[in-house]
Amino acid sequence: MIASRSDFRGTITDIGGPTANLYGSRCLLWEKSGFCAGKKCLVPAKCKNLKLGYLESLDLYRKIKAISAIKHVFIGSGFRYDLLVDDYASEYLEEVCRHHISGLIKVAPEHCSDNVLGLMNKPLFSVYERFVEIFKKTARALNKEVFIVNYFISAHPGSSLKEALKLALYLAKRKICPEQIQDFIPAPMTLATAMYYTERDPFSGKKIYVAKTFRERKMQRAFIQYSKPANKELIIEALKSLNMLHVFKKFQSSISARQYKFLKKKARWDA
Ligand code: SF4
Repeated sequence: MIASRSDFRGTITDIGGPTANLYGSRCLLWEKSGFCAGKKCLVPAKCKNLKLGYLESLDLYRKIKAISAIKHVFIGSGFRYDLLVDDYASEYLEEVCRHHISGLIKVAPEHCSDNVLGLMNKPLFSVYERFVEIFKKTARALNKEVFIVNYFISAHPGSSLKEALKLALYLAKRKICPEQIQDFIPAPMTLATAMYYTERDPFSGKKIYVAKTFRERKMQRAFIQYSKPANKELIIEALKSLNMLHVFKKFQSSISARQYKFLKKKARWDA
C-alpha cells in the first residue's frame, strides 16, 4: 500500500479517476433489464435511473483520510460540473471543496454557444454559470481560496468563427485566460467525426458549419487564447473577416500599449 512506502510523503495527489464525481455511478435500468435505447443519461437533465455514487465516494475519501500516514487526499481529475449544481450534490461539493481541492477544480465547459454544446450533447451554458456561482459560494463559506480550471475546445463541428468570437468575448469579460484548450481532431467512431465529414447533424440531418481550413482553425484557437500576445495578429485577421474590429478593444487589456498601437495601425482600425 502506498501509505506504507518509505518514500511516501503523506499526500495523495489524485484519487479522482477519469471523471471524479462519476465514481460509483450506476444505471438502475441496465441493472434490471440490461438495455437502454435512449442513453441520454445527462442531457437535457439527469435521467432518473442514473444513481450517482456520492455517498460511496465520501465514504471512500473519509476512509483514506483516516489512515494515519495520509495528510492530504486531493482530487486532480476533472468533474462533471452539471452534476454539482443540484441539492443532492451539496454535501459532496462541500466536502470536496473543504478537504480535497488543493487550489484548483477542473471542469470542461467546452464552449459557451448552446448550439455547439447541443451538438456535443452537453448541457446549456447556463448550467455551467450556475455551477460557477455555487462553487464560489461554497468556497467563500469555507473561507477557501480555490480556482476553476476550465477546458475549452476550438473548431468543434457547429462552431463558426462567430461562435468562437462569442466565447472569446465571454472569456475576456471575465478575465479568464485558458491555457489548456483542445483543437477538435476527428477521431474514429465518434459522432463528432461523423459531423465533421458529413457537415450534418446525424440525428436531424440538418446542415452544420464545420471549420476545415487550417487558417480558420488557428483563428478559432487564437480567439480562445486571446490573451497570448502571439495570437494578436490572428485575432485582428479574424475580426476583420467578421467585420467586427470594433470589439478588438475588449481584448486590449491583455496586451501592451505599444503592441496595441502597432496592431491598430496595421489593421487600419478606424475606431
Ligand atoms: S439514459 Fe437513463 S436509463 Fe438510459 S443508460 Fe442512461 S441512466 Fe440508464
